[in-house]
Amino acid sequence: MRQLLLTGALVAGLVTQGVTPSTAVAQTAPATPRAVSAAPRPLLVTVDDLPVAGSAGHGDGALRMSTTNALLATLKKHGIHAVAFVIAGNLKSDWDRAMLQRWLDEGHELGSHTNTHANLTEKTSEAYLADMAAAQATLTAFLQPKGRTLRWFRYPYLNEGDTREKAEAVRRWLAEHGQRTVPVTLDLSDWAFDEPWAKAAASADSAAMDLVREDYLAAIRTTVTTSEERADAVLKRRAPQVLLLHANSVGAANWDRLFTWLERTHRFATADEVMADDTFRELPLDIARNGYGHYDRIGRLQRLEAAKAAVKAVLDAQVSAWNRGDFEAFTSGYAADATYVSPNGLTHGRAAVLDRYRQRYPDAAARGTLSFEVVEVRPFDGLEPDPYGGIAPGRIDSVSLLAKWKLTYTGKPDASGLTLLVFRPRPRNGDGPAWEIVQDASM
Ligand SMILES: [Zn+2]
Repeated sequence: MRQLLLTGALVAGLVTQGVTPSTAVAQTAPATPRAVSAAPRPLLVTVDDLPVAGSAGHGDGALRMSTTNALLATLKKHGIHAVAFVIAGNLKSDWDRAMLQRWLDEGHELGSHTNTHANLTEKTSEAYLADMAAAQATLTAFLQPKGRTLRWFRYPYLNEGDTREKAEAVRRWLAEHGQRTVPVTLDLSDWAFDEPWAKAAASADSAAMDLVREDYLAAIRTTVTTSEERADAVLKRRAPQVLLLHANSVGAANWDRLFTWLERTHRFATADEVMADDTFRELPLDIARNGYGHYDRIGRLQRLEAAKAAVKAVLDAQVSAWNRGDFEAFTSGYAADATYVSPNGLTHGRAAVLDRYRQRYPDAAARGTLSFEVVEVRPFDGLEPDPYGGIAPGRIDSVSLLAKWKLTYTGKPDASGLTLLVFRPRPRNGDGPAWEIVQDASM
């Protein structure tokens, strides 16, 4: 929509200069869409695990403060207003509190990352909420003197809970306490580079440091390239981004190069701007034992819905095939090695299933009219590792479908029962349904 409006305005401007609309379009059409899509992409920078993460966290107060100062100087140099997520229980010394004060004084937002970096999958919701409440009390004490409130929250491990009850309890608590979850869309697993970097730096091994730096910068390039392409496909538009970094020593030494590279195609934006985007208004409720990024969640939910629709389509095709007496088409929904189970026994293979149907339902009177009422559909998927040690939801391997079947007859009572179908993806070589039935238990 914005592209059309811009093009229209451009054309209107040229018309007033005496250029005809058709030549204006011819002149501007190739350039305009590229110019618009190449506009820098809004990017919110978020920094996790304050006061200091990784190897730098073990250093003495002065060392931790110098890491903090380096991080803050780089943010300032690039005009970045970050949201920094604090593990409130790690504010143990005066140094830690002074470091946090520096983030605030530099104009960054502070968010809660719980009190103990708690993992929701490993905790009850009661224990998790108590951890969140403790963090809120500590952080509010920092924010209040500046006239600010605690507005942002980030789940440790990006884990939003393995059960619907837990996920909803935490969401309710957040809403009641005026905190919003800031999701992650770009995660280069920067924490994984911190220890190798600290080791190389401690022994002043400049060749080793160069290697870690190269890999760290390659990670951001790979992450941006692959994640943003996936995100745009999921959202069907240019997706705004939220980058996850950690307050660590590899960052203190290398953020300048990282931000310099990002600046070529991104525009550093505030939390208020990025979080106002529609995609973050209602976050997808994706129940999982592990955490992962926002667009991966949306992508996963889209795949689950697509798989459900695809197996229902197989069922719909079976219904119309049955009702026109085409058993060949009806059984084409089965895998060649499918197993069919009924109270009368087992049938192996599509060909045998076809024979069985032909014998039991020889004519229209025996066949009746078939209908299904789907009771539930459950797609099953897995997780796939990314190159840097993170994980993302993977493909859907199978779908089970439970339905009530009914055969309606004229002049005799209806027959009905239940069926449980297990589907697997069909190897794609040509057209036809994407899923096939491997097991059918009908009673
Ligand atoms: Zn964390």
